[in-house]
Amino acid sequence: MKLLEERIRKDGIVIGNDILKVDSFLNHQMDIALFEEMGKEWKRLYNDVEINKILTIEASGIGIACIAAREFGVPVVFAKKSKTKNIAGDVYTSKVMSFTHGREYDIMVSKKFLGPEDKVLIIDDFLANGEALRGLIKLVRDAGATVAGCGIAIEKAFQPGGDNVRATGVRVESLARVASMDENKGIVFTD
Ligand code: 5GP
Repeated sequence: MKLLEERIRKDGIVIGNDILKVDSFLNHQMDIALFEEMGKEWKRLYNDVEINKILTIEASGIGIACIAAREFGVPVVFAKKSKTKNIAGDVYTSKVMSFTHGREYDIMVSKKFLGPEDKVLIIDDFLANGEALRGLIKLVRDAGATVAGCGIAIEKAFQPGGDNVRATGVRVESLARVASMDENKGIVFTD
């Protein structure tokens, strides 16, 4: 999606060669006009697919998921990052290794909000090693629901997550795919 690529080029900040900061428009301050265009693009890509729920993960996925949900006309459920080990039995849980924080945490969704009738579009801001997606896909499958596909804002295609998730047969649509990035040389996108 050219609009997102241009915005990343203009306002994204590369740290080292594997962290991209987009907090001026995506995951701290949020550009809602841009989110609306992203929502329309995911809707265009998944127009032929039955979707009745969007699942994301707190915190950075929530904003983009909510705006996308208006295009799809479906509710949003977000997986909570759980701080306590005493997780009650009425939730689906999964473990995720955080790329940015370098530690493992639990995510959970109430059994009330995910079930066998759900056809779920998973949305997140970044795809790096695929840990967050793997955890979210497990929650959907534990609930007996169907993964209709994944919608990612920025995929770092030089990291293995996207290829790994696609290799399991799950459809992943990323709006911007970064082939490489470097503090000095800048960002190269790929299709
Ligand atoms: P993964 O689970 O695919 O390894 O990493 C995805 C998660 O890590 C995303 O939910 C996102 O919050 C975070 N993340 C991964 N890479 C980056 C990055 O380059 N910049 C930012 N801001 N977040 C990232």
